[in-house]
Amino acid sequence: MSPKIVFLFLFFCSTALFAQKKAKSTTSTPKLVVGIVVDQMRYDYLYKYYDKLSDKGFKRLLREGFSFDNCQYDYMPTYTGPGHATIFTGTTPSVHGIISNDWYVRDSAKIMYCATDTRMKTIGANTSAGQKSPHQLLATTIGDELRLSNNFQSKVIGVALKDRSAVFPAGRGGNAAYWYDAANGAFVTSSYYGMTQLPEWLQRFNARKLADKYLSEKWETLLPIEQYARYCAADNTAYEHVFEGETTSSFPHDLPKIFQTSGDYEILRSTPAGSHLTKDIAIAALEGEKLGKNGMTDMLTVSFSSPDIIGHGFGPQSIEVMDCYLRLDQDIADLLTYLDQHYQQQEVLVFLTADHGAAQNIGYMKDHRLSAGSVSESGIETQFRDFSKKRWNGQDFVLAYSSQQLYLDHTKITQLGISLADVQQQFADFALQFDGVAQTITASNLRNNDYSQGILYFVQNGFYAKRSGDVALNYNPGYMDWSEIGTSHGSPFNYDTHVPLIWYGAGIPAGNSSAAVRVKDIASTVAMVLHLPFPNGNLGNPLNGYWLKRK
Ligand SMILES: [Zn+2]
Repeated sequence: MSPKIVFLFLFFCSTALFAQKKAKSTTSTPKLVVGIVVDQMRYDYLYKYYDKLSDKGFKRLLREGFSFDNCQYDYMPTYTGPGHATIFTGTTPSVHGIISNDWYVRDSAKIMYCATDTRMKTIGANTSAGQKSPHQLLATTIGDELRLSNNFQSKVIGVALKDRSAVFPAGRGGNAAYWYDAANGAFVTSSYYGMTQLPEWLQRFNARKLADKYLSEKWETLLPIEQYARYCAADNTAYEHVFEGETTSSFPHDLPKIFQTSGDYEILRSTPAGSHLTKDIAIAALEGEKLGKNGMTDMLTVSFSSPDIIGHGFGPQSIEVMDCYLRLDQDIADLLTYLDQHYQQQEVLVFLTADHGAAQNIGYMKDHRLSAGSVSESGIETQFRDFSKKRWNGQDFVLAYSSQQLYLDHTKITQLGISLADVQQQFADFALQFDGVAQTITASNLRNNDYSQGILYFVQNGFYAKRSGDVALNYNPGYMDWSEIGTSHGSPFNYDTHVPLIWYGAGIPAGNSSAAVRVKDIASTVAMVLHLPFPNGNLGNPLNGYWLKRK
């Protein structure tokens, strides 16, 4: 071969390779990412209810997708605000700053909600429901990185009944987040997103008054009620909440009557209809915004809030919670069917996870000789105040006790010339005598040490010095700031940290792994599939290797 021919040969080889590589990367990048969060979904629900699930919902995700059966949070407290922020930023509250749903703000001397933004106006209603934003979030989300990658041409939209579950997933740079306003039974947004009115598709959606439709039917069990017996405690127990307007907690729940008595649409959140409405707005957003059809990869985040509210009211042992998941299963099926009809399976990347799990009901545990207990945060606060006055000559150093964190008055302590670290340690030692308190640690210790395992590792990952308190308390497993009705979450124990994680679509093969992975690994995994930089505070590791090996 002459040098010229060799050159031409090499040229064709390289352009052919280049063309092939280019074609491969364009076809393998999904056009749409759908991030689904189920609020309060314990990992075990997938398998506990498996036999009663349909073939088209959760089971389809498990059958056609890749499931991580051992995915856990690695911080405390495990609440909704921090959970949603962690899923989409790939980092812990110690970096993204959403340390709880509410925390004490020293400058304003009060407890503030994580998504409150009073500078904003409600768009879509004359209520205060829209005075929210993600401005407290200190790190980029995967959606923010997606938009940064193409000069903000990708669309990123978040929907949920709860405002915090819509705004944090959509990130500070998202196009919009929409959430439920119980005053009107309709979805609203915040002026934060630069809108003066709701988009036309959402106005049309709200005008359909689906909340009224859903609240015109009683909540009956999906299956004959005797089929729940193998999985649940009895229908009417002392472990359960009684809806206002009802006299017992048994089925059917007369939603039309409760709706009439209450006078607002709040009750919808506490029923499976809340999930149906969430699925409806998710599909309306896909359609209205033509997500995945805009030439760039778009992202929709969908958080199902009702399972959390039903769980809080009735607890994991209840027929209500099981029925909520059997009905959510149908919503997941509808969503997957919609995606089938409008996209190729490899064009869409879906993941499903949860923002935290839930403890077993305290009464149910005790009645079966298991260790559990109720801790009262307000009772603990009073005891801290009494201790302070007794120990320091009538001085009350306590500002607040919230989300297992004690906030002390630094100004007062400094003025008296006492060592803050010493005062913190004395409160930490004192707190150990409370029933149910297992560990206490001071902010000074958290700032000066690096805890790499055990409970203190969880505390440290949830600790952001400028927002967190002076002493953190941890309770025994099964103990929480909650009554013996329903349940709650917040602990560093696996019933709260162990959540489902399933990946589906985008050419991901079916499979599962029980490797120990963390929720903070989700965002960088999405980034790898989309060939994007990781969110700027990322501390997780991509999980793609688990399924790439199997290809
Ligand atoms: Zn909750």
